[in-house]
Amino acid sequence: MAGPFHIGEDHRHRRSSWSAPDGSSVTSGGEGRGARPIDPSERPENRPFVAAARTSGRCGDTRCIHSVDGMTILLSDQRVRAIGVRDNGEPLVPLDFASGVVVRSGLANRLYDARGALPSGVDLRVLEGHRGASDQQAIIEDYTSELRVLHPDADEAELDRLSSRFVAPIAVAPHVAGAAVDLTLVDDGGEELWMGTAVDATPEHSDGACWFDAEVDRTARHNRTILARALKGAGLVNYPTEWWHWSYGDRYWALLTEREHAVYGPVEAKAPA
Ligand SMILES: [Zn+2]
Repeated sequence: MAGPFHIGEDHRHRRSSWSAPDGSSVTSGGEGRGARPIDPSERPENRPFVAAARTSGRCGDTRCIHSVDGMTILLSDQRVRAIGVRDNGEPLVPLDFASGVVVRSGLANRLYDARGALPSGVDLRVLEGHRGASDQQAIIEDYTSELRVLHPDADEAELDRLSSRFVAPIAVAPHVAGAAVDLTLVDDGGEELWMGTAVDATPEHSDGACWFDAEVDRTARHNRTILARALKGAGLVNYPTEWWHWSYGDRYWALLTEREHAVYGPVEAKAPA
C-alpha cells in the first residue's frame, strides 16, 4: 500500500460485551458488527451499492492511527496525549436520526450539517456515538487477556504497552468523549451503500480495504468520497484505518487540525431515569 500507513498483524478489533443504550447486553466477537469476511469471489457489482447486513458490534477505537507530517502514530501516541483538554461542557444529546445514539451537542450539529450536504437520496446511518468508560475498559481488558495468551512472558506493564498500541486508552478514546461516530451511508430505502467493506471489517478480513485510502472498487471509492466530503466539510476528521470512524473535538481531532487543545474529554452519560 502506498503512503505512510502500514498494517500490522495486530491491527485487530477487540470486542467485548457491553450494555446497549436500551439496557440490553450485546456481545460481539473480534470481527465486530457486520464484519463478515469479504469473499474475494463476491463481486461488488453483484450487490451494487448495498453493503453487508449489519449485526451488532462496537468500534474498539482500535487501529486508531493517523499520519502527521508523514509519521504514522497511534492514538496512544505521546503527541495525542500531550494535547490538553479544555472541556467546553457541552452535553451529550441524542441524535434525532439515529436511535439510541448520543454525542456531544457540537458534534450533533455538525452531523446535521453533514446530512444537509449529502446528495439527495443519500443519508447518514450512525451506528455508534458515545461509549461509556466502563465499556471501553471492557474492550481493553478483553484485548489484554488475549495478549496475555499470546505473550505469556509479558508482565503487566508490557501488556499495557502492547494493548495501548491498538486499543485507545480511556483518556484519549474519542467515543468515550462523545466526540466520535461510526457511520455509513444509506439510500432513501434505508439500504446501506456499498463502501468496500462492512463497518468494523478487520484488515485481515478485508485485505486492508478498511483503510479509507485503500484501493477499492469504483463504487466504494465514489461512496467513500461522498461520505468524506460531507463530513470533512462539517469539520470532522477520519481515522484512516477505519473509513467509518469520524470525530470532532477530541484530542486526536485537535492534533490533526492544529488546535491548542481538545474541547471534549471523557464524559459519562447520565443514567436513565
Ligand atoms: Zn469508532
